[in-house]
Order: sequence, then C-alpha cells, then structure tokens
Amino acid sequence: MSSPTQNRRYANEITADEDGERVSIAGWVHEKRDLGGVFFLIVRDLSGFAQVTLHKSEAEQELFERVKKVPRESVVAIVGKVKSEKKAPSGYEIIPERMEVLSVASQVLPLDTTGKVGAELDTMLDARFMDLRTERTKHIFIIRSRVLKAIRDFLDERGFIEINTPKIVSAATEGGTALFPISYFEREAFLNQSPQLYKQMLMASGFDHVYEIAPIFRAEEHDTTKHLNEATSVDIEVAFVSDRAVMEILEELIAFVYSKVVDYSGLAKLNLNPEVPKTPFRRITYDEAIELLSGEGEEIEWGEDLSTSAEHTLGKMIGELYFITDWPCAIKPFYAQPAVEGKSICNAFDLMHPRLELASGSQRVHSYELLKRNIESKGLSADSFEFYLDAFRYGMPPHAGWGLGVERLLMSMLEIENIREVVLFPRDRRRLAP
Ligand code: ATP
Ligand code: MG
Repeated sequence: MSSPTQNRRYANEITADEDGERVSIAGWVHEKRDLGGVFFLIVRDLSGFAQVTLHKSEAEQELFERVKKVPRESVVAIVGKVKSEKKAPSGYEIIPERMEVLSVASQVLPLDTTGKVGAELDTMLDARFMDLRTERTKHIFIIRSRVLKAIRDFLDERGFIEINTPKIVSAATEGGTALFPISYFEREAFLNQSPQLYKQMLMASGFDHVYEIAPIFRAEEHDTTKHLNEATSVDIEVAFVSDRAVMEILEELIAFVYSKVVDYSGLAKLNLNPEVPKTPFRRITYDEAIELLSGEGEEIEWGEDLSTSAEHTLGKMIGELYFITDWPCAIKPFYAQPAVEGKSICNAFDLMHPRLELASGSQRVHSYELLKRNIESKGLSADSFEFYLDAFRYGMPPHAGWGLGVERLLMSMLEIENIREVVLFPRDRRRLAP
C-alpha cells in the first residue's frame, strides 16, 4: 500500500467540485464531534480545516472505532472520497477509507487550540509549538514573514545591498545601553546591541546603500510590554544623502509594508482592518513636541528625553504615524550630525507610532576629528573605537541611516499589546526557554 501522505493535499485546495474523487490529507485532530449516528473529525493543516465524516451505519466498524478514539491534536493521515456538503466548513466533507495515526498526542493538552478557551501569555509562550496551532498566533507569524519579505522586496528594488555584520563584538556601540558579556576564548566579548558601527564603516567601501535584518541584544533590565532583550532590527545606511532622504525611504517603506499586509486574507482572523498610512508622515521638531506637551501640562526640560508617558500624550494628540526631528545632540548618540557645527541640535529623528517609538535615525558625523571629539565628550575611549574611526580617515562620504524594530512595527500594525506576542521564542528578563 502506498504511503498515506503521498499526494497529500491541503484542506483548502480541495473543493466540492471534486465530488467522488479520492484525496489524501494529513494534519492534526482539531475537534471531534459525536452525534451518535454520525461522527465528525475536523482535521487541521496549515491551510485550514477539513471535515471527515463517518456514518455509523455505513463505515467500517474498525475504522469508526479508531477514529472515535484518536486523541485530540494527534497527527493523522486520511485517504477518502470527497463529498460535496454545503453544511461543512469548506463546502465539502471527506468520507474516509483509511486513517493512519502518525503520532498520538498526550492528554491533557497545555492549551486549547480551537481558541475557545483563552490562555495566559505565559502559557502560550511556554507551549509555543502548540500555541502556533491556533488561528490567531499562526496568522501573526505568517504576517511577520510577509512583513520581512516586503521589507526585503522594497529595499532590493531600490538597489540596496543586504549585508551581515558580526554579532560578537569587542566594544560597546554607543555606550549607555547595557551589553551582554560573553566569554570569547581567553577574552571578554559582547553581543552586539546594533550594527551601527559596521554599517557606517561600509559607507567608506563604496557600498552606497546597505541594509541588514538581524538580531540586536540589549541587556537592559526593563520589564515592559515594548522591550525585548533580543529584538530584530532593520538597519539601513545610505551614502551621499542627508537625514531627510532616509526619512523618506522609511515612510515609503512603512506604507509599502502596510500595503502588503492589508491584502492578506488571514487578517480577518485577527479582527483587524488596518489602513495604509498616507505619506509623507507628519513631522514635528523636538521643540514643537515639548511645546505641545507643555500645553497638556506635561513639562519636559529642554534636553531631556521623552518619557513613555510623554510619548503617549503626544501620540494621543497626533493620532497617526509621525516623525520627531531636530533632537538635542545631548540625548542622541555621538555619531549624530549637528545641524550646524558647534550647535546643540542634531539632524536626528525618531519615527513614532501613537503608542511607541518605531525607529531612530540620523545624518551621521563623517568628519574624523568631530567624531573622535564626540566619542570622547560622551566619556568613551577613542582607543576602543579605533577600528571604527579608521574608516573615517581615508575618504568617508556624508551618510545617513536608521534602525527600525521589526517587533515594534508588527505590534503597532496588529494592535498587539505585548511585544512578546510577535516573537516566536522571546528573550526577556525571565525567559530563556523555550
Ligand atoms: P526605546 O527608547 O523605545 O527603548 P531606543 O531609542 O533605546 O528605544 P534605539 O537604540 O533607537 O532604541 O533602536 C532603534 C530601534 O530598535 C528602536 O526604535 C526600536 O524600534 C528597536 N528597539 C530598540 N531596543 C529595543 C528593545 N529592547 N526591544 C525591542 N525593540 C527595540
Ligand atoms: Mg531610539
């Protein structure tokens, strides 16, 4: 006898038009319904659901008993005949001839895959393999994959070169943010918090536009709904342009990604109906932001970073994606280019969703002397940045770029509260497994 998974078809590929034809399907036992004379087995696969129907009076007794007994979430392969059935979820049912149990599921299940009984986030994350069997979680990760593909398509189309830079590094990127130390043979090394220094060094190579989609590691002890200790960042860097040019790339990219998500049929399973944001996004300066906040009774001293509560207040007032530009250099990294040399405002920007920050970027300092001075004035040692500074000594064009958090983008698009929901296996203060 042939293997029961040979010629396996997806549930949603089969149609009522195939009435009378033999098909084979394979998947998980989603639900069982015993109506006495009739027994329904709902089999779930990546594509959807197939109803397998057995009539007690007609079915082979041995098969009928085995189907009735197979535990929920077991993996089965079924060969049977298609029958048009208007009342079945996909307009057809399968009258089985054979069933092979490929893997028996233990009972009790860690969570309910039908989604009828909700689960706590911790339960979902602990049993992520099973949580992914629920419609909601499955669609979140299919959308995540579409988002990443859309980002690549957009940047590739514009001539960007995809790069991969090291995640094991010897020095801090920016100081400030805590790093995870690791032991590297006889030396200490760190997990990189951002590809910043490397993507900038590549601007001296003639690779005019580069991008990287990769993990960033931040050892901050925060326990919030928008921070991870391992996140995914989309980073770009472009030579011979200013901050304004990379802001335009960023807003067009975001609109493009939305356009690829809004036409995804699985969106309905998340009860969402997002709209493609209109470009250009609104731009306000840092000074205008603190002015607006002051009007709402939230006083920010000039040169102070915006707190989460300030971000929320602004978000409520603006109500759509927007940029905050012209930041005080004091709260931006050493590589942000001052608008006017010697002045305290930098050509730096943040892209904000009403709920949270999505991206940060700037025009970069490309003068070796200024960069070295900036590094030292932030209290960092220029010696440990020698490998980086060297790239600025032999011909470095002006350049600009940004870093965009993939999880922040997803959670804001899909109106998801907790960032952990959009990561398969999140790493946070407490969670190191699975
Ligand atoms: P925040 O102030 O919101 O903590 P940040 O300004 O420290 O973020 P950047 O260093 O500007 O973050 O990093 C660029 C982008 O990477 C951020 O806008 C965000 O989308 C994402 N990102 C940074 N840190 C994290 C994190 N810990 N978890 C998830 N995403 C992050
Ligand atoms: Mg930032």
